[in-house]
Amino acid sequence: MRIAVIGTGYVGLVAGTCFAESGNTVTCVDIDEDKIRRLREGEVPIYEPGLEELLKRNVADDRLHFTTKYEDAIPGADAVFIAVGTPPDEDGSADLKYVLAAAQSIAEHMTGYTVIVDKSTVPVGTARKVKERASQHTKLEFDVVSNPEFLKEGAAIDDFLKPDRVVIGSESAKAAEVMDELYAPFVRTGNPIIHMDIESAELTKYAANAMLATRISFMNEIANICTRVGANVDKVRKGIGSDARIGSRFLFAGLGYGGSCFPKDVKAVVRTAQNANYDFKILQAVEDVNERQKRLLFELVEGHFGSDLSGKHFAIWGLSFKPNTDDMREAPAVVVINALLAAGATVRVYDPEAMEEAKHRHLGETVAYATNPMNALDGADALILVTEWNEFRRPDFDAVKERLKTPIVFDGRNIYSRKRLEESGYTYFGIGT
Ligand code: NAD
Repeated sequence: MRIAVIGTGYVGLVAGTCFAESGNTVTCVDIDEDKIRRLREGEVPIYEPGLEELLKRNVADDRLHFTTKYEDAIPGADAVFIAVGTPPDEDGSADLKYVLAAAQSIAEHMTGYTVIVDKSTVPVGTARKVKERASQHTKLEFDVVSNPEFLKEGAAIDDFLKPDRVVIGSESAKAAEVMDELYAPFVRTGNPIIHMDIESAELTKYAANAMLATRISFMNEIANICTRVGANVDKVRKGIGSDARIGSRFLFAGLGYGGSCFPKDVKAVVRTAQNANYDFKILQAVEDVNERQKRLLFELVEGHFGSDLSGKHFAIWGLSFKPNTDDMREAPAVVVINALLAAGATVRVYDPEAMEEAKHRHLGETVAYATNPMNALDGADALILVTEWNEFRRPDFDAVKERLKTPIVFDGRNIYSRKRLEESGYTYFGIGT
């Protein structure tokens, strides 16, 4: 099939590459000229494990192309995936201007029946708006389908090629057939393609992210109680996770969720509920708890060193909102670091992949950048672990101690053993452990 993908971010680039990998001819469109120039020169603008190799192979095989021009991608396409950003508006609802602009440009360049696919995370009712906008710009036949994306940054290729499920919301049997054909190679092991009405498909994505965010905030609240009553959240986690109704995944306490999805999607569901005259009490609390949790590590630092941190210097390990990505959107690291700087401290940071992102977008020159984890530590009053990259999991703590001014560790992800560190002479702070 001939496919076009609008938007070459984390979702669009992965979707385009994977559809090319399964034999389709794919053209990816983005309005960001610099991104497209870099892609055309063979440079992958984001860090996503496995993406570069797959992308280069499909470009070399002439199945994957990049352009800034809709006219190069849309004519003759069987399906066009809209995978542009849907950032929160001022009131928390999803801003649909990029989605609707894409819908209009698609309609203007269609040359025959086309399936327009909403892949971006969009509120209920968006497919109808996409249909309306497209209808104003073409007389040709088309269908709009909702096909939300569930990939996780850091494991995106695997998630796309072997999805737990594919959700398709459609009113048209013809469009549903095109979608089934496209996804057939990815569900050969029997994972389901779940067909439903468009509204349910649109809400499914938000419900999934809202549920996951709720688990995180719930466990963070349990951790905060643990601290107060002398319990250990890691033991509680194992104790409840072995119950099949609960399950063991996504139960880790920490510094709260970040990234480009959970924060904005939780806000969007709260807003959707308000618009439907419903007060979604749990989700409002999920968001409040998360905001508080992002500041917790700083409060532990403040509790130990006092509120005036002038003259204090800290080593930060991890900047991205989670491991295996360079994405720093809504990353807890930014909250922690800004709070430390505001209290007068200086900071040296290290992250395996997100330092360019930090330099150019999130922290600039406000912090010093280390070239490896160990030299981030030199002369620091404490090590603060923010993101649990694998390479931070088993450091040589004797060598760490030699570099630190004082042997203190603030472990924002509970990856170290309190017992082992205390036996080695460290002062250890964890989250509910
Ligand atoms: P992103 O910000 O990384 O990329 C969006 C891209 O769209 C940008 O490159 C931008 O230049 C481009 N764009 C904007 N308007 C355009 C237009 N009119 N024509 C062509 N290109 C245009 O976004 P993302 O993280 O890939 O997310 C995209 C959507 O997918 C969002 O709705 C998000 O909620 C959803 N989603 C994201 C993830 C994730 O892990 N990042 C997972 C599932 C779903």
